[in-house]
Amino acid sequence: MSHQFLENEKAIAANKGHDYCPFIPVFGAPAEMFEKGEGTQLWSVDGKRYLDFLSGIAVVSLGHANPVIAKAIADQANTLVHVSNFFANTVATKAAVEISGLMHDAGAGDGQVFFCNSGAEANEAAIKLARKFGGRGRHAIVSAYGSFHGRTLGALALTGQPAKHEVFQPMPDGFRYCEFGDIESLKAQIDPTVAAVMLESIQGEGGVIPADPAYLQAVQQLCKERGLLLIIDEVQTGFCRTGKWFGFEHAGISPDAVTMAKGMGNGMPVGALWARRDIAAVLQPGDHGSTYSGTALATAAVSAVISEMKRLHADELAVRQGARLTKGLLAIPKVESVRGAGLLLGAQLVEGLVAGDVYKQLLEKGLIVNAVNATTLRLAPPLTVSDAEIDEAVALIAEVLS
Ligand SMILES: *Cc1c(COP(=O)(O)O)cnc(C)c1O
Repeated sequence: MSHQFLENEKAIAANKGHDYCPFIPVFGAPAEMFEKGEGTQLWSVDGKRYLDFLSGIAVVSLGHANPVIAKAIADQANTLVHVSNFFANTVATKAAVEISGLMHDAGAGDGQVFFCNSGAEANEAAIKLARKFGGRGRHAIVSAYGSFHGRTLGALALTGQPAKHEVFQPMPDGFRYCEFGDIESLKAQIDPTVAAVMLESIQGEGGVIPADPAYLQAVQQLCKERGLLLIIDEVQTGFCRTGKWFGFEHAGISPDAVTMAKGMGNGMPVGALWARRDIAAVLQPGDHGSTYSGTALATAAVSAVISEMKRLHADELAVRQGARLTKGLLAIPKVESVRGAGLLLGAQLVEGLVAGDVYKQLLEKGLIVNAVNATTLRLAPPLTVSDAEIDEAVALIAEVLS
């Protein structure tokens, strides 16, 4: 029994009165056990109130227990949940048309959608798209060091963090990596076996590292010249998180394919691959699928999220509240700088501070953030976060850092 397992066991037992941990211990010891949420707030089983400035890792962008999304899910559960892909359903069809509309408005052109259940699955679909596009012998994909694309074997291979691969060797063949932000490094990885380039518009898990717009434009140019697919992983940055509907819009590029998931269901497990129509056409019946692709239940949440984000102008909320949060953070002497865009922010702490320790002290005080690396706090509150909640969070961070 590993030490990690014991930590999990203790934490769960303390919180719930169980005498063993029911989970396979892949997640490490949980810091708290939650029972209820509302907007930016969460309540633990002991009734302790927290401000949630992580949103379940940039997922619950419209706030916990959002009544509009809750009603859409409940109504759909009472109407039709699932019929299989031998048939269509009106809800997924509507959501796919809406996503195509969003991508068109974002400047990516006309395309088609494949629904799945997570970010990793969206990326698996993108890998298969790239491989079929390239054909036999031209199946390699270049992604960036420091990237994160998910935990399934293909998405893990795409993830440019060799340490995460080590215990699962041998990894699938056909994945290689370049330095994020360095066009020469990308060029050096391209040879006739490469079919596609896949990048995040902001590396989220990698420490909230935005891509320079000029870099993404150069990548697009290079992909055009060499006939490579440009796939952008918008799993964390999509759905208004960065102040645009999709992060690639900051660079004004038009990718051939885009993956999305986190913000799109407000917590309902759902993801999607979008591809421009001429590219999507390489996938034919039988090439890919999922039992749960486009269930009415999941896509009802997607449609509700899209209409609610449009109604609230969630992209503008992210810009405005992101500016307020950034200003507040920069006024704290021990915050050296703030990276990111909209409400996906990385607060770089001054030398000598350990983000993990700060995270624990903030949790103690009832503020949830994430120590995304040793010296950076990631902040990603719901886009509906209020001025007062931002000011409260900033005051707590200032207090802990003083
Ligand atoms: C979270 C994330 C993924 C993986 O999504 P899952 O739903 O956890 O499979 C992929 N890409 C990016 C950029 C992410 O942030």
